[in-house]
Amino acid sequence: MSARPVGLLGMDEEELVSLCGEMGEPPYRGRQIFSWLYAHGVSKFSQMTNIPKGFRAKLGEAARLEALELDRESKSTDGTEKYLWRLRDGARVESVRIPMRNVSGVMRWSLCVSTQVGCAMGCAFCLTAKMGFVRQLTAGEIVGQFLAARDLLAPGERLHNVVFMGMGEPLDNFDATVKAVKILTHPQANGVSPRRLTVSTVGVASRLKRFVSAVPGVGLAVSLHAADDETRGKLVPVNRKWNLRALLDECRELPMGERRRITFEYVMLRGVNDTKTDAKKLSRLLEGLKCKVNLIPWNPFPGTPFERPDDGRVEEFRRILLAAGVVATTRTPKGSDILAACGQLADAGRLSGRNALKQLNPL
Ligand code: SAH
Repeated sequence: MSARPVGLLGMDEEELVSLCGEMGEPPYRGRQIFSWLYAHGVSKFSQMTNIPKGFRAKLGEAARLEALELDRESKSTDGTEKYLWRLRDGARVESVRIPMRNVSGVMRWSLCVSTQVGCAMGCAFCLTAKMGFVRQLTAGEIVGQFLAARDLLAPGERLHNVVFMGMGEPLDNFDATVKAVKILTHPQANGVSPRRLTVSTVGVASRLKRFVSAVPGVGLAVSLHAADDETRGKLVPVNRKWNLRALLDECRELPMGERRRITFEYVMLRGVNDTKTDAKKLSRLLEGLKCKVNLIPWNPFPGTPFERPDDGRVEEFRRILLAAGVVATTRTPKGSDILAACGQLADAGRLSGRNALKQLNPL
């Protein structure tokens, strides 16, 4: 056992079983700890009541249990809550808890988590991009957002959906993202079912297949945002590496499973990608793909040339897609008064005028 206590949060069942093995304990002990960590979200070893006291004490010396620390909480008038978490090294990331009504009008919470501190993708219309890339989150820090947000729920409430749509590009932090998804959807973790977890990616084409195979059944959202390479290249720099053709060819081949459609996200920017011609081009582009389109009216933040189109324009765009046989919905912005809506997340203290593009990670 090393002198430095090892952090338990983010360890999967196998790792916990092997840690217990090294400490002379049977495998089921590791499974018990897994359940204490994730299903119960305990913050102290003393709460692990089915673990013998002697082993709890040994664990307390060898390992750490630490929850994310809430730095700031903001509440929107629409019920959305934004949490700024402080991590061990002082870095900060945000998660957003969003109230959603299902078709029967029942209120459910969705949690949007971050996968990186900042982001290297440099998308022109996204506030997180302005921070540049700071560092990867560990699997423990991703799962930790879920656990800490779950702790803040009122009795009887639960987090029904989890979306990886906060700060960062999940596929640029591949291993930690996959591990976090596996932990959160593990039957003994009391997290969420794979059907209710969606990971959103800018479209790192080379990693899509590996990702879908690693976490089958999980929802996939791909940020398309334009129907031609010229426009997409300006909005989403990664398009210069994998253009629309490369990305969509890859999407067509994904082993998505019978009942799963890929969601294509399309941020609506006035005069940039919101014309009837764009809608028609988009529907042609998606022909034959089992997918749906989620239109996201751009959420504003200061200092950009972009504007949100009016609702009529968004609806017209949607109708053109529908008429062409493409399932399309519009995402209602949530929490924009507290900068908690899509693409409005950033650690204000870290925002700078630096050009995030210069820091594009070699993927
Ligand atoms: N890196 C992931 C997750 C990003 S956030 C990705 O690129 O998919 C989730 C979605 O919000 C993405 O489609 C992203 O492009 C979009 N988005 C970013 N900034 C936005 C803004 N200001 N308004 C609306 N949507 C935005």
